[in-house]
Amino acid sequence: MLCDKGTTRTSYLSGMKAYLYAFFALLIVSIPGCGPAFEADVTLTNVHIAQFDGDSLYYLHGHIAVQDGKILGIHPIEEGKNTLPAAMDTVDLHGAYLYPGFIDAHAHFLGQGLAMNSVNLWGAKSWSECVDRVRTYIAEHPTDPVIRGRGWDQNDWPGMAYPTNEALAGLTDKPIILSRIDGHAVIANDVALSLSGITAESSIYGGEVLHLPNGEPTGVLIDNAEKLLQSFEPSEAERTKALLDAQALCYSLGLTSVHDAGLPTHDIDLIHRLQQEGQLTIPLYVMVSATEDELLTWKERGPLKTPLLDVHSFKVYADGALGSRGALLREPYHDRMYHHGLQIQSTVSYWDMAEAIASMGWQMNTHAIGDSANHLMLDTYFAYAPEGSRWRIEHAQVVSKGDLALFGGKSQILPSVQPTHATSDMDWAVDRLGHLRMPDAYAYSELRQAAGGILPLGTDFPVEEVNPLYTLYAATARKALDGHPSDGFQMENALSRSQALKGMTHDAAFAAFQEDELGAVKTGFWANFTIFTEDLTTCPEDNLPTLKVLQTWVQGACVYTTQP
Ligand SMILES: [Zn+2]
Repeated sequence: MLCDKGTTRTSYLSGMKAYLYAFFALLIVSIPGCGPAFEADVTLTNVHIAQFDGDSLYYLHGHIAVQDGKILGIHPIEEGKNTLPAAMDTVDLHGAYLYPGFIDAHAHFLGQGLAMNSVNLWGAKSWSECVDRVRTYIAEHPTDPVIRGRGWDQNDWPGMAYPTNEALAGLTDKPIILSRIDGHAVIANDVALSLSGITAESSIYGGEVLHLPNGEPTGVLIDNAEKLLQSFEPSEAERTKALLDAQALCYSLGLTSVHDAGLPTHDIDLIHRLQQEGQLTIPLYVMVSATEDELLTWKERGPLKTPLLDVHSFKVYADGALGSRGALLREPYHDRMYHHGLQIQSTVSYWDMAEAIASMGWQMNTHAIGDSANHLMLDTYFAYAPEGSRWRIEHAQVVSKGDLALFGGKSQILPSVQPTHATSDMDWAVDRLGHLRMPDAYAYSELRQAAGGILPLGTDFPVEEVNPLYTLYAATARKALDGHPSDGFQMENALSRSQALKGMTHDAAFAAFQEDELGAVKTGFWANFTIFTEDLTTCPEDNLPTLKVLQTWVQGACVYTTQP
């Protein structure tokens, strides 16, 4: 439920309202005999306010006054006297627990919305189940010009082999494009292949076109090979609906800000416009998908910063994903002889890009999953990252122990990780890596230490589910949602609850240079809150994934509530 009344949104979008309040407040003060002036727009009363102290978390029991979208003051009840400023509105939270608004430090916000408006293939137990879902979707959406789907994972099917596209023939004469769960592979029908001119001879650097024994393409395109497909771009109306759907879902799960890990300029421009029009209200930190053209575009434009949008970073890809054997490994895959995975671009091109990004003063955020990809990028960062530049390694999934020392340092190099990847991958990662390399994988506690106690956490949604409580559970219990393994996966790398909560708030803000405005409940910070009736630091572990958000606040406005 989106919430409403009284709890007035006073972001810059409605700054005029704030001016009016201030004007009338002054007017009232200056008229003798009038009632009290409103110093705050709203006060949240009787609430336990989470505060970080190093790696631990404690609560102040009190009230929060909010004005112009920011925290005006925090007033502990213990002081014994009512120091609360008079407010236009008061929300009694009946002793609930209030956290700095949750931030997802690595997700695909637009991708999530598009996935919500396409064939849902998550959890399908076989390729034929996927095909059935596509058939049903086509019947229910007769006007879609392109049939898109996302979420298939051959690792969940009997035999674990990649599918081939014969079963898609005859379902429709429109293109069908179905993305693998990690977005690093697609299967396309013959219509899409022939419209894109993909044949038995097609190949590309940094990608794989899979072939049948007779040489024809199977329809499966891995990593850079996806670029061979004609774009089949969703329309602006489809993208707008996707963004608004993603926002509603994020708010309902307590997210108050998202880092989108890679968008082209035309999508960023759409987001900016929707935010200015007041349709899109969620603050976004958007990384620009790095290409030569995009580098030139933003070099000319310069960084973009509004209260809702922050653009001064580039997203780069070093390798593919472990599930599709695209992650770049130093030693061959345990389950594919002589295969090391895929390096997406040449080494020299990463150096050139790093040099260009450094000269612009922007942040470089590189997807690196395999130990070889991580080594390559950490080395590149060591050579090019300016002091305090906070360049990020996105995922940092398999990192050799000898490379850990390259995190942190003067450049503040950060690992940006997704704890639900660990629990999604743990059952088959050993097949790809073998037992000897497993201690290098999903080593979050070690990575956190290496980076000086900062570990931004995210989900990579729609690769994983959006719910930030799943992140908290996976990071601390290191278990899948069904509770396995009962003693947790590689528990030496579990985070404490407060470390994980810090990763979902302060550390995510730090990774976006926003730690002076977001990620903590402090006077002067944006009034972004995620509120629960339970204490997330002490509630039983098994309950964590099923807790429901009580309220979500963004820039002084309640954007979601379950309270009647
Ligand atoms: Zn991602």
